[in-house]
Amino acid sequence: MPLLRKTYLKREYQTYRKSAHWKKIQKIVYSQNPRCYVGNERYPLNIHHTNYENLYNESLQDLVVLCEFHHKALHSSAKMETIASLPGFIMAFEKHVA
Ligand SMILES: [Zn+2]
Ligand SMILES: [Zn+2]
Repeated sequence: MPLLRKTYLKREYQTYRKSAHWKKIQKIVYSQNPRCYVGNERYPLNIHHTNYENLYNESLQDLVVLCEFHHKALHSSAKMETIASLPGFIMAFEKHVA
């Protein structure tokens, strides 16, 4: 992806994360998945996009709840082995705006 497009998306995504729409999605996702998908931790939780194809119109398949530790691990290639066995995660990482 060209760098400018990447920067644009990143900025737009940051705005999106503050929107009422995203807050609603968050609420639904957390109510259905109150724990980290990897290690079952309860706090602090993040929502990770497994893909960005449906950005702004996500379904639950596009999202996964992770604790902060596992979310950071997913975004850092050094710790990839920890969660590399999870289905879809490598793919998600490759596609990620990293
Ligand atoms: Zn993420
Ligand atoms: Zn975790």
